[in-house]
Amino acid sequence: MISYLIHESGTPDVSGTTEFSAVQESFQKWESDVASYIDFGYAGTTNRPASLLESESNRLDCVNVVKWVNYNIGFMSALALASNSTRYTNSNIITEFDIAFNDYHDWARWCINGASSSDGCITGEYDIPSVALHEVGHVLFLEDLYPIAVDLDSDPYNDVNKKQVMYYSFQDATQDIRQSLNYGDRAGVRYIYANTNTAGSSVGETQGADIAAGAVNDGSTVDYVLAWADNPVGANSIRYRYGWDVSSSTGVPSSWSTDYSITGIGDETQGVGVNLINLDSNSRLDLIIAWIDNPVGNNTIKYRIGWNIDTSGVPASWSSTKTVPSSDVGNESQELAITLSNIDSNSRPEMFVFWVDNPSGANKIYYKIGWNVNTSGDASSWSSRIDTGIQPGDETRVRS
Ligand SMILES: [Zn+2]
Repeated sequence: MISYLIHESGTPDVSGTTEFSAVQESFQKWESDVASYIDFGYAGTTNRPASLLESESNRLDCVNVVKWVNYNIGFMSALALASNSTRYTNSNIITEFDIAFNDYHDWARWCINGASSSDGCITGEYDIPSVALHEVGHVLFLEDLYPIAVDLDSDPYNDVNKKQVMYYSFQDATQDIRQSLNYGDRAGVRYIYANTNTAGSSVGETQGADIAAGAVNDGSTVDYVLAWADNPVGANSIRYRYGWDVSSSTGVPSSWSTDYSITGIGDETQGVGVNLINLDSNSRLDLIIAWIDNPVGNNTIKYRIGWNIDTSGVPASWSSTKTVPSSDVGNESQELAITLSNIDSNSRPEMFVFWVDNPSGANKIYYKIGWNVNTSGDASSWSSRIDTGIQPGDETRVRS
């Protein structure tokens, strides 16, 4: 069990113990996700500091504290609503986390979902459970999400990332929908803290997984597709499954498809990326599945395109296997992600492939850009690898 305490001062913005119960609710919402396994335990109030956030020396006291602090203390910028700092070992064992809420802002417990509040539901105040839910996501190693601008439905927050708790910024109108975990938040926490007792999950020798969203079965409601590598002894396959009609209130799909698979991908797969995009002139979405082939020696990033998936998610046909020029990918890569976006002035999108290079020293994240992917799914040229400068093995990070 992961114990945490809340500083006894709370915030003067709300009456009674509203803020203490609101924070506990947010920890419990992550714990209650049925397909992941986390066990938080509230250990009461304390007079200890949020030590990782309140001093420049970043003091590790191995006590997990949630506290409202003055905005100009330590690492907290005046604009940040709240910050989390987590200290962890090179093997990703968390030794301490602290969360600091910024008392420069006005806090409230909004009257959402029938909750009673004597503090009103005033625009301009920040909803404690919504912000706490986001910060606890950081405790669990989920990162901030930023706009992706994929127009999937008709509501004003049609960028799917804005509906996720882990979206980086709060606006008044989005606080209510972010009192509950959305499908992307759940996918992230399930990936890191998989509950292997989950009925129906296909856990064996799995290597890598990825998720993409699109409107597949009815052209409007968000569906998502999960892909993962099944990596037994001998030939591997990549499996994928759709979650149909994700509920806007619970983040849970109304049903799951059966598992589909593609074969002929080699014996040593590391990392799988998946994306849904319309690359050709047909109105149906195309499904791109990418993977890293990891034989002895240099690794290679490969992909196939499932053209024109029908309302069951089945492609009309598959492309042959395409190869990203990979002389600079390295020998010990793992994890892969693929996304497409049009960043130049012509009509064709660019394909981005990201991977983690995992040599004996520090890990690094690199990516390559395939420029102007044509209607056959081939890039006109590929960049050399680009170093993001991110070293995932860095020991401490502070996120807001
Ligand atoms: Zn954040």
